[in-house]
Amino acid sequence: MTPEDIRDPVPVSPVQPVQLGLADKFRFRCHKGIACFNQCCRNIDIMLTPYDVLRLKRRFDLPAREWIDRDTRDFQMDGHGMPGLKLKTKEGSNECIYLTPEGCSVYEDRPSACRYYALGLMSMRRKESAADEDAYFVVKEAHCLGHQEPHEQTVREYRREQGLEPYDEANREWRRIILKKRSGGPAIGKPSQKSLELFFLASYDVDGFRAFVMSPGFQELFELEPGLLRAIASDDETLLSFAMRFLRQTLFGEMSIPLRRDAAARRLARYKDKVEATEREAAARRAAEQDRMYDSLDD
Ligand code: SF4
Ligand code: SF4
Repeated sequence: MTPEDIRDPVPVSPVQPVQLGLADKFRFRCHKGIACFNQCCRNIDIMLTPYDVLRLKRRFDLPAREWIDRDTRDFQMDGHGMPGLKLKTKEGSNECIYLTPEGCSVYEDRPSACRYYALGLMSMRRKESAADEDAYFVVKEAHCLGHQEPHEQTVREYRREQGLEPYDEANREWRRIILKKRSGGPAIGKPSQKSLELFFLASYDVDGFRAFVMSPGFQELFELEPGLLRAIASDDETLLSFAMRFLRQTLFGEMSIPLRRDAAARRLARYKDKVEATEREAAARRAAEQDRMYDSLDD
């Protein structure tokens, strides 16, 4: 997620051009008594991560797909149509659906972008490096008076105070996948329609993905340890972590989930049976057609 992903671009970028590390300090404080309270939630453009979806759908005790349909809108993350989700706004405005006069109604489960604000997080990879790096930037928007408050903290302290650690932990692998997809260029290429659908399923629809992994078809193809399978069945965080392995395998061919040895042969045999059945049906249809033609000659 880049700082630009957090809010709509404005003519003069609010992102301060100074890169911060975890130990760097910045001046900012947000609190209920501040004159601009809730102002930042009245004009939102918030991209959701897989862990944001998980926390919010659990908060409302809804199946993921139902919560997604109710409280989010789709967008494409890149020119290849990688599916993304943004938080919905109230009818006819840019105000967040969760905003109330008392403040955020989902505060304990608010998305990662809300927690980071007024910091932006950018993941990047230097040319000569194989590892991704996180960099932080201050996002200074005119309406936000928190920058004038006499309070300083390090980025590390701010992340902890905002409860970002479990979010970053759960989303790290997903951010890496997005970064690899973006920076891979033609070497990775455009994913197939099926891969895009699987990306959506594994990233956001946690209940749909669980049903997919537990299905006989999946288990026939992939060899999963019984312990892992049990954890996937009962623990959302384990499932999310497995979903990231699955995405790496689907998008980049990184084979970390073992395939069953005989799966390919069985699938091929089933495919052949299907083709033969289709051919038999087509031949029967042709024969019936011919019979009808000769019958009409008798008339
Ligand atoms: S989820 Fe809460 S903090 Fe985030 S924009 Fe909506 S009301 Fe504001
Ligand atoms: S200080 Fe900034 S982040 Fe806090 S309520 Fe005001 S506008 Fe929002």
